[in-house]
Amino acid sequence: MGAYYRDFSDFLAELFPCKMQKIAVNAGFTCPNRDGTKGRGGCTYCNNQTFNPGYCAPALSVTEQLEEGKRFFGKKYPDMRYLAYFQAYTNTHGDIDRLMDLYEEALAVDKVDGLIIGTRPDCMPDALLQRLAQLNQSHRVIVEYGAETSHNITLERINRCHTWEETVDAVMRTVEAGIPTGLHLIVGLPGEDEQMIMQTIDHISQLPIATVKLHQLQLVKGTRMALEVEQGLYTVPQFTAEEYIDLCCKIVKRMAPTIAIERFVSQSPDALLISPRWGLKNYQFTNLLHNRLKELKS
Ligand code: SF4
Repeated sequence: MGAYYRDFSDFLAELFPCKMQKIAVNAGFTCPNRDGTKGRGGCTYCNNQTFNPGYCAPALSVTEQLEEGKRFFGKKYPDMRYLAYFQAYTNTHGDIDRLMDLYEEALAVDKVDGLIIGTRPDCMPDALLQRLAQLNQSHRVIVEYGAETSHNITLERINRCHTWEETVDAVMRTVEAGIPTGLHLIVGLPGEDEQMIMQTIDHISQLPIATVKLHQLQLVKGTRMALEVEQGLYTVPQFTAEEYIDLCCKIVKRMAPTIAIERFVSQSPDALLISPRWGLKNYQFTNLLHNRLKELKS
């Protein structure tokens, strides 16, 4: 167990006998909240500038991306094993046979022992789940859903085009299929105060999830949210790093201890980020958080 909470390496250590490294893969998927399947325009905080046909047709195949990642990490850790992390956009949105071909392509790469598939909770049909459950017999499959919050009023405000009930349904079906399941949350969404944030932590703590990934809301140039804030339609929280660290300490205390916390912060490219601008690298933030947790413990 990490010093102050169950962390992602604790979770991986229970599934794999050796050290694992994630390699992010962009398989050229789109998003149902952009292509009209669920909505158009996307979530209000999501940067539409990065969505273009070039992105949807990555120059490198899944195998090439994984081999490139292995070359990078393998220099320092020759014995490392890998997880292919299907991260960009909605990685279960498409024809099921084509999806399975891409996942199997990743698993055919030497030293790749499993998959982490990032997706939306409204994008996991039973037919695909069954195929993933079969794949999970021979390799490790982990699914990560973008829940963002448990409050439907916020989900509507940020144009997620899915509900908290859909998140609960997707989690329950995935866990019943025997697949370890994680959630992604955003802390500080418009209209949410600390009480609402903690309610989300309470709600996710009641689910049989294995992992959670949090990050602070980032206001990013070129997004609908940035425009709406500029127009004065609403405000977004302006946490200082210290305030956010204190909030994370409360989240750690409140979260079910069985859930592994993978991270607390994220960093958009400097040229795109409007706020918050803390000037901290992720590992620097984590060190500060651990120091604060240590102080609180003593
Ligand atoms: S955040 Fe995810 S679901 Fe929302 S628009 Fe962006 S890619 Fe689509």
